[in-house]
Amino acid sequence: MRPSLAALLATGLAAAPVPAFGWGYEGHEAIAAIARAYLTDTARAKVDAILATDPDTSTGPDMIARSTWADAWRSAGHRETAEWHFVDIELDHPDLRSACFDYPEAQGPASAGPSDDCVVDKVEEFAAELAAPQTTAAERLLALKYLLHFVGDLHQPLHSADNHDKGGNCVLLSLGDARTVNLHAWWDTSVVKALGSDPVALGAELRARITPAQKTTWQRGGPQSWATESFAVARSVAYTIGSPPGCTSDSAPRPLPSGYEAEAKAAAAIQIERAGVRLALVLNRALDPAISPNAPQKP
Ligand SMILES: [Zn+2]
Repeated sequence: MRPSLAALLATGLAAAPVPAFGWGYEGHEAIAAIARAYLTDTARAKVDAILATDPDTSTGPDMIARSTWADAWRSAGHRETAEWHFVDIELDHPDLRSACFDYPEAQGPASAGPSDDCVVDKVEEFAAELAAPQTTAAERLLALKYLLHFVGDLHQPLHSADNHDKGGNCVLLSLGDARTVNLHAWWDTSVVKALGSDPVALGAELRARITPAQKTTWQRGGPQSWATESFAVARSVAYTIGSPPGCTSDSAPRPLPSGYEAEAKAAAAIQIERAGVRLALVLNRALDPAISPNAPQKP
C-alpha cells in the first residue's frame, strides 16, 4: 500500500519528499497523448463531448490535462480513492486476487467505492460504466476521467508490485548530489523526465516507435494481464536495485547500480507506449459502436 504522509512521518522518513502516487503528470500526459492519436473519430468526439460538460477546474479541461485529474482529486481530500491507483502484488507472494481485495462488488456507482479496491478492478468497472447506456451523465464523466488516469497508473511497474516497502516509497536513493528521492518517486517522475521534458512531444516521439505488430500484441488481454506484465517489469528491472523487503527507518540511501538508469528508461518508455495503446483500446471499445467487442463483425 502507498503511505499516508502521517505514516511516512511515523516511520522516520520525514526527510523524504511527499510520496508520489503514479506516473507524475509528465507520464500521464504522454500516455494520454499517445492514446488520443489512436482514438477513432467517433470515440475522440465522444471523449471531448463528455469532458466539455465538466465544471471541475482542478486540471485543464482537455483530454491530455484530464489524465492527471484523479491525482488532483485524491489530493483534494478524497483519500478514500487512494487505493484505486495501484495494486500491491507482492514480490514474495504474487497473488493478484488478494492484492485486489478479492474484487469487491461495487454497491452502486463505481465512483462511490468501496475504498479497498485495486486499480485493475477500477479500470474494469469504469470501462463497463463508460460503455453502458444506462450510466448517468455524471457517472460517465467520472468513469472517463478515472480511466484516463488509471490505465496509466497500472503500467507504472511500482504501481503493480510491492516488496513490503510501499511500492518502493521506503527505498531511498542517493543520486550523487543533495537530492533525496525514493525509488517509487524516481520511477514516477525522474525516469520519465529523463526521456523528455515535454510530455506531448514525448508521447509523439514514443508513438512513432510503435510498430503495427506491437500494437496488435499489446491490445491482447485486459487489466489483469496488463498488471501481471507490469509486475514482471518491476521484478526484472525496478527491483534489481537490490533493496531488502520492508520499510526500515535507518536504511541508508542506495546508489543506482551501474546500467540501472538506462534499463529503467527503456522499460518506462515501453510501459508508456503500452499504456497509450491500451487506453485508446479501452476508450474505443466503450465509446465507438464499430469497435465494441459486441459489434457485429464484418464478414
Ligand atoms: Zn495515480
